[in-house]
Amino acid sequence: MSTIITVIKGDGIGPSIVDAAIQILNSAGCDFCYEYVDAGMVALEKSGQLLPHSTTDAITRNKIVLKGPLTTPIGEGFSSVNVSLRQIFALYANVRPVVSFVGAKARYENINIITVRENTEGLYSSVGQFVSKDGEIAEATSIITRRASEQIVTFAFEMALRDNRKKVTIVHKANILKSTSGLFLKIAREIAKNYPTIETNEMIVDNACMQLVMNPHQFDVIVTTNLFGDIISDLCADLVGGLGMAPGANIGKDYAIFEAVHGGAPDIAGKNIANPSSMILAAVQMLNHLQLTEPAERITHALRETIRIGDRTTPDLGGTSSTTDFTHAVISRL
Ligand code: ATP
Repeated sequence: MSTIITVIKGDGIGPSIVDAAIQILNSAGCDFCYEYVDAGMVALEKSGQLLPHSTTDAITRNKIVLKGPLTTPIGEGFSSVNVSLRQIFALYANVRPVVSFVGAKARYENINIITVRENTEGLYSSVGQFVSKDGEIAEATSIITRRASEQIVTFAFEMALRDNRKKVTIVHKANILKSTSGLFLKIAREIAKNYPTIETNEMIVDNACMQLVMNPHQFDVIVTTNLFGDIISDLCADLVGGLGMAPGANIGKDYAIFEAVHGGAPDIAGKNIANPSSMILAAVQMLNHLQLTEPAERITHALRETIRIGDRTTPDLGGTSSTTDFTHAVISRL
């Protein structure tokens, strides 16, 4: 029986880049069934809920999700749908690779960095959100636990071992955030001792941002807490050509959600010019997760060739083609 994938097309450019990824999966001969469900603004408009039960039920049934960007309305009363999904399904690891593609308009060549971001706690745990009645004071609670820190750092080192990576950089702010970041660093040091064949180093987050811009080739795997990982992974995306090149996998024990790391890009939504590579690369992460390495490699090769030749790429990559044209170019090279 074919694997059933839950698909959430999402908001803004989501439907066009998710359709592109699915056309490519189909053309590569992947034998999946797709169950389409809604979340985000589309779901709010249809059902009055950002994350309907029918959507969480489908994820519970099928376990694997391919997801476009979801928009959460700004302001009180709405919790982030992405954060809720990560918490409900215990998706503790957010794996965000950035890899250089020859031909992409990017600041650097030969970049290959994976950010492993703790995905369920820190300042994103939604705990203790408070704004005083007079609007003068706002508070939020940052929670770091031994359990989640051990889990994410172990995940990063195990991934480094499996993928033949050489170095893990622990990014923190323990000099100032002594309790929360301090606990994370202490635990990360303990775990690192179990992996003597992998070089470990530590970097304070502000320095890490500067080093990433100045000398990104020194990085291999980065492991960090939720907020720092969110910021650092967007910074890394720009090293290889921008958010259109950046996929992310949210991995838990039982469930996995594969997504583009960017938002709905309202400035280009509906114009058929979004770069679908982020979503195509998320689909490749999904294939590798399912141990379907042959189509994963074939799709990556076709995408690489399309960007290298550069005659049918989207404007963010320096081309003039549409999302549809770019997708057809990838399919023609499969
Ligand atoms: P969010 O806070 O929801 O992550 P954001 O405010 O960071 O969203 P994005 O929607 O991620 O904003 O877009 C940031 C910029 O990157 C916009 O100018 C957008 O057009 C561009 N961008 C994002 N994704 C793509 C893509 N796939 N192709 C081309 N440009 C993109």
